Amino acid sequence: MLPEHTDVLVVGAGPTGLAVAVTLAGHGVAVTVVEKLAEPPVTSRAAVVHAGTLEVLDRIGIAEPLAARGLRSARFTVRDRDRVLATVGFDRLPSRYPYALLISQAETEAVLADRLTALGGRVLRPYELTGLELDGAGATARFSDGGAVRAGWVVGADGMHSRVRELAGIGFGGPADPGESFLLADVRVDSALPRDQVTLFLSRRGPLVWAPLPDGTVRLVATVDDAPREPQARHFQTLLDERGPARRPDRVLDVAWASRFRIHHRIADRYRSGAVLLAGDAAHVHSPAGGQGMNLGLRDAVALGEALVGGPGALDRYAADRRPRAEEVLGFAAGLTRLAAAPPALRPLRNLLLRTVSALPPTRHRLASRLAGFEPPPTPSPAP
Ligand SMILES: Cc1cc2nc3c(=O)[nH]c(=O)nc-3n(C[C@H](O)[C@H](O)[C@H](O)COP(=O)(O)OP(=O)(O)OC[C@H]3O[C@@H](n4cnc5c(N)ncnc54)[C@H](O)[C@@H]3O)c2cc1C
Repeated sequence: MLPEHTDVLVVGAGPTGLAVAVTLAGHGVAVTVVEKLAEPPVTSRAAVVHAGTLEVLDRIGIAEPLAARGLRSARFTVRDRDRVLATVGFDRLPSRYPYALLISQAETEAVLADRLTALGGRVLRPYELTGLELDGAGATARFSDGGAVRAGWVVGADGMHSRVRELAGIGFGGPADPGESFLLADVRVDSALPRDQVTLFLSRRGPLVWAPLPDGTVRLVATVDDAPREPQARHFQTLLDERGPARRPDRVLDVAWASRFRIHHRIADRYRSGAVLLAGDAAHVHSPAGGQGMNLGLRDAVALGEALVGGPGALDRYAADRRPRAEEVLGFAAGLTRLAAAPPALRPLRNLLLRTVSALPPTRHRLASRLAGFEPPPTPSPAP
């Protein structure tokens, strides 16, 4: 049942909302998490948690249990069909987690939910937020069943179509294009590709990500012009034939899970409006190239939980600090997509450039650090 009052109301129990709640519960703050779905989703979705994110999650006791469940990939390789253009190693990162951790989003959410339970919290389901009245002392949140909760702070962790963002009157701007269309699946595949690394194929038709998962399946993600409503094995076979290894082609054996989605690049105009704060997909969405979306949301979440403990000044700093980070990640993801889609005449030059640049240890290290989601420390607040 909904409480009448809570210090912090977190709307949405995806990875972001759960991580905000775990951070707050760990500091003894009274937090209420509401979620409109009756059950947590069981699908795989975002499949990688990077080293920089694991370092941040370590502050809330989540990194070790996640690492114990995932598959560790020490390298990220960029290829044009059979030719390796660049290999980026994570093993030299200054981290206790020098790898990209491959794990399904459902597992990541389960680990976060278990930790929340251990800290005495839980997710209240199914409660759909439908109204929000803001005043000087906080907010009153209203729900589709007629219930209401009075909260000191409201966290919008309710995803791309955030109701909280809309009700707080925060814009969600971006280019007015139709967005990028993606096909993705977890497939069982007969393949000669190494299973200890993530491979990004750069192809004229767009990028194809090939990532091994702990259950033996392989995650494929590709941009496509027109994604079929119900993607089948043959669609993924075609993607592999056109973009994957040529000498020893992969063969799709079966599809464990498949989906499609369209992404518009968007960032919220502000991350804070009075008592409302945004994090995760509610604040930013972009292409999954480089596997950055959920990672950025998880890092937002811990930063926001810590800022809520720190008070109003810390919240303003959260809002000012996190938005530029999203802009950076959006630019990085868009750059990877542009690199993949270089016109045929420029591809030899692109490939040469990638091979040359990635052979230089400082560049390779910078790229590894960028992919791994290491963020520079927040800008210090000005002296009073
Ligand atoms: C099919 C698919 C594949 C994806 N693949 C990748 C990938 O490969 N790599 C990657 O980085 N990202 C991927 N993503 C994106 C990734 O899943 C998101 O970045 C991540 O889930 C964002 O987490 P979040 O907690 O911010 O939002 P969400 O996971 O969207 O969680 C928001 C939650 O809020 C709830 N909610 C919404 N409105 C209300 C309301 N009014 N009241 C109460 N609850 C509400 C929703 O039910 C949901 O549970 C994929 C997404 C999809 C759908």
